[in-house]
Amino acid sequence: MALIVQKYGGTSVGSPERIKAVARRVAKWRRHGHDVVLVVSAMSGETNRLIALAKEIQAQPDPRELDAIASTGEQVTIGLAAMALKELGVAARSYTGAQVRVVTDSAFTKARILEIDEARLRADLDAGIVPVVAGFQGIDELGNITTLGRGGSDTTGVAIAAALKADECQIFTDVDGVYTTDPRIEPDARRLRTVTFEEMLEMASLGSKVLQIRSVEFAGKYRVRLRVLSSLTDPEIPIDEEAQSGTLITFEEDENMEQAVISGIAFARDEAKVTVMGVPDRPGIAYAILGPVGDANIDVDMIIQNASVDGLTDFSFTVPRGDFARAMGILDSVKAHIGARAIVGDNKICKVSMVGVGMRSHVGIASTMFRCLAEEGINIQMISTSEIKISVVVDEKYMELAVRVLHKAFDLDQPIA
Ligand code: ADP
Ligand code: ASP
Ligand code: MG
Repeated sequence: MALIVQKYGGTSVGSPERIKAVARRVAKWRRHGHDVVLVVSAMSGETNRLIALAKEIQAQPDPRELDAIASTGEQVTIGLAAMALKELGVAARSYTGAQVRVVTDSAFTKARILEIDEARLRADLDAGIVPVVAGFQGIDELGNITTLGRGGSDTTGVAIAAALKADECQIFTDVDGVYTTDPRIEPDARRLRTVTFEEMLEMASLGSKVLQIRSVEFAGKYRVRLRVLSSLTDPEIPIDEEAQSGTLITFEEDENMEQAVISGIAFARDEAKVTVMGVPDRPGIAYAILGPVGDANIDVDMIIQNASVDGLTDFSFTVPRGDFARAMGILDSVKAHIGARAIVGDNKICKVSMVGVGMRSHVGIASTMFRCLAEEGINIQMISTSEIKISVVVDEKYMELAVRVLHKAFDLDQPIA
């Protein structure tokens, strides 16, 4: 008998029918003697609707109040899911983040989980009850409601699995696992049976939204066995088959695992580029430019400084698109002080990244990537690499083309030999 945390995302609980299907799946796992904690998201579209509603009152919603609003989507789903379980004769009880005591810091809209009180969950499990926990939400030390950032129910699921030392955390979603790239962009994308934790961490941080990055970080820190699988199969599929399905995130690169040089391609549209032109190339200039941006809590991702010509250089960096206007404003205000000729911005860029632990032992990946993009006439604006990834910034209009061309060039549509 195992203890399993099952998390279901928005589409998976998107209608009363889908919630009933979730209940049937949970009931099946209970029938086989397993303990289950159910974590659910808001019904699909609901969080967007709530945020849009808030913005009708306040263009820049007050973060504390926004969390009070955005968290309500999940509260509806826990009640519905607990009712659906009871209808099937499965003992269940719903919990908000505050009722469990999912304690977070006070960074509204992007709070981090500090601690989870597992006592009530444990008591329910011992009594044969399925706790149904609201994803995405928590409570800070002062009792304020917080949310964990978009896609944060994944993190609730993994954090609860870590707190309870569950045997596995199963992330049920609308695809049947982690693919070589988003199957919505590349229909020939292939499901990975396993992906290493490091690769998943890169893919999530580089834009693959199948798992929220913090959920992957949690899984790594607490060694939670994590699996991504489909909620759209028949809920009655044999449990042994289901337990092996989807994609398992692994912590070791073992010999028997499928091993491709490149495991996946991730992409992110939500970035923007800022270029500071004609600044004096002197010690301290990077700090003079990026210091004020960092002070405003804006994350800077890729950075490039060009070779200097006549003592002047250009300096480019990327920021989240949502912070673009703010970053431009900050630089305009320091332009005279840093002696820049001009500040130019581009918020129609995207980042395309190839990820694979095999890059450690293979050379020539970058040059193949650059050649393929050149053959399509796609201009590379920025490049960054790590041991297991290469990212390029290109014009947003080429994003899908770049993903498809690279997917084909690296044979990601082909089964591993
Ligand atoms: P949920 O509501 O269940 O949390 P999400 O929409 O957050 O679901 O995540 C699932 C989606 O992630 C898929 O529908 C798919 O379009 C997208 N996705 C992006 N990259 C990948 C990938 N590499 N593999 C699988 N799905 C991906
Ligand atoms: N409902 C939240 C969102 O839409 C959390 C989640 O679905 O994981 O971002
Ligand atoms: Mg999600």
